[in-house]
Amino acid sequence: MSSVTFLGTGGGRMVVLNQLRKSGGFWLKLGEANILQDPGPGSLVMVHRLKLVPKDLDAIVLSHRHIDHSNDVNVMIESMTGGGFQPHGRLIVPSDCLNSDPVVLEYVRPFVEIIEINEGLKTTLNDIEIEFPIRTMHPVETYGVIYQWNSKRLGYIPDTEYFPKLSGAYKNIDYLIINVVRMKNDMSIRHLNITSAKKLINDIKPKLAILTHFGLQVLKASPEFQAKIITEETGITVMAAFDGMIQDLDDRESLENWV
Ligand SMILES: [Zn+2]
Repeated sequence: MSSVTFLGTGGGRMVVLNQLRKSGGFWLKLGEANILQDPGPGSLVMVHRLKLVPKDLDAIVLSHRHIDHSNDVNVMIESMTGGGFQPHGRLIVPSDCLNSDPVVLEYVRPFVEIIEINEGLKTTLNDIEIEFPIRTMHPVETYGVIYQWNSKRLGYIPDTEYFPKLSGAYKNIDYLIINVVRMKNDMSIRHLNITSAKKLINDIKPKLAILTHFGLQVLKASPEFQAKIITEETGITVMAAFDGMIQDLDDRESLENWV
């Protein structure tokens, strides 16, 4: 069975620093493989609260080094590898997570195999193909990702401002997870707002889109209501994630099968 579990759905400083939503990223179970994407603050706590098993992880992936995406990376590497006594798994990160002012501490690096992301990188993890089709437009090195398994494809659009080439990088995907921090447009913030998210969803046309990483503006405007509006306007099923939500990725008939 394949699924995505949201360990947090908050984004933006006000929401994350005040924990108005949790901020632990999301856990993908794709066939037999387990992948943790963007372990922000509280990821370890949510992993245990939701009874996930860190030693089951095969990889930890960071889209970028911002603290709401990377804060728990070191403690999750320790947890994945039994405090470093059972080295295994991969850490897949942009190079600026490893170089100057690194967010990945040097002492945990021998516990995992480290792969640096470049735009266009394709790698495999067991039977899963992992592709980083595009570098997004954000103040630090940031990459979108597509996971392909059992002939299904899940794309993740992390923090970015809108740019037209973005949708072309996510052709033929079944599931789209998209970070929507803002309601209004503010070019200085370099994040997607709800209007640009709708445009991307409409252009990419996944079978299911899941909104997450909500800033305060989006929380005040009700993410569920916004998802409903986008569904009505595009004809594409759009959901708003909530903390602890588990979405089945095998069978779209079981959308009710949440915790
Ligand atoms: Zn960011």
